[in-house]
Amino acid sequence: MNIPFLSFTPQHSPIREEVLAAIAAVYDKQWYVLGDQVKAFEASYAEFNQVEHCIGVANGLDALHLALEALGVGPGDEVLVPSNTYIATWLAISFVGGTPIPVEPNPATYNIDPARIEAAITPRTKGIMPVHLYGQACEMGPIMDIAQRHGLWVVEDNAQAQGATWQGGIAGSFGSVNGTSFYPGKNLGALGDAGAVTTNSSELADKVRTLRNYGSQKKYYNEVIGHNSRLDELQAAVLSVKLPYLMEWTQQRQAVAELYNQQLAGLGDLILPVTAEGATHVYHLYVVRTAHRDALQRYLQEQQIGTLIHYPIPPHRQQAYKHMGIQEGAYPIAEELALTSLSLPMWPGMSETEVAAVAAAVRSFFESI
Ligand SMILES: *Cc1c(COP(=O)(O)O)cnc(C)c1O
Repeated sequence: MNIPFLSFTPQHSPIREEVLAAIAAVYDKQWYVLGDQVKAFEASYAEFNQVEHCIGVANGLDALHLALEALGVGPGDEVLVPSNTYIATWLAISFVGGTPIPVEPNPATYNIDPARIEAAITPRTKGIMPVHLYGQACEMGPIMDIAQRHGLWVVEDNAQAQGATWQGGIAGSFGSVNGTSFYPGKNLGALGDAGAVTTNSSELADKVRTLRNYGSQKKYYNEVIGHNSRLDELQAAVLSVKLPYLMEWTQQRQAVAELYNQQLAGLGDLILPVTAEGATHVYHLYVVRTAHRDALQRYLQEQQIGTLIHYPIPPHRQQAYKHMGIQEGAYPIAEELALTSLSLPMWPGMSETEVAAVAAAVRSFFESI
């Protein structure tokens, strides 16, 4: 059985006609940028995410970048960020001239450890960017408390956790202004690049709306030096078709994770995902850990089972951040996670047979070593 890392088939096949009709409607309407489709999607995503405002942008990285620009982050400002996130969170800070300051994660949940945040705060610290990694909501209660005590803003990177909650509050609704991504493989995915900013502040929403469209509210009148980072009508139309299915797809992801948890329990040194008390997990990724990671990945590849590593090199060890001069060993939890983490196949509608085949292969690997 050939099992890919990700298949869109069970998600996309049943809605094929619905999506194609939405695409055809945009085609026929002949209005392709910033029109009714974007407005309608922004309204329904804001409602889904329980915020006042959603602003569609070109991708998730831009969403984070524009969020920081709207907050006025600039040179000399330090922003606390997980040491084990995807590089986009760091890049957004670098784009506005700020300095990413890594904070190690909780080694059980892989999310930023609230207990380690205060030690990283300096007089230059302006904000915290928690990342709801792999689909699990961060411990937002303690994070918001620390931010409030120190007068910091919070910007959530919610690219991986649409619909996840912390004590009933939904990810992407806690921070002053937050970013998410609709990259195709994300839990809510477009058919290309797309992203959004979510906020309860009309002032910040206005700023982001202006920044995404050449710094302009009125055509050819430019208030600030802006960007071209707009969500396409076509992508908005597709996202509007998909959004009503998101929670059903989330439940399917959670069912796959539950099967993996049952079938992979107690194998050698294999560590399964752990969800913090108070948090929910929407399993953008199902990440396991083992000291035998590379051998396990090779073994699964030989059985035609696709896996990926999220992420093989932490941002502070990337060539792009060499100038920061952070030595190997400075963030040992992130470095250890990079050496031991492996993402198993996971998609909504993955069949019980497929999950069982992956689990059986992982079991036979641990029996063979
Ligand atoms: C995907 C992702 C992003 C960036 O989203 P793009 O749409 O690819 O620009 C940012 N942060 C995290 C954690 C992501 O997983």
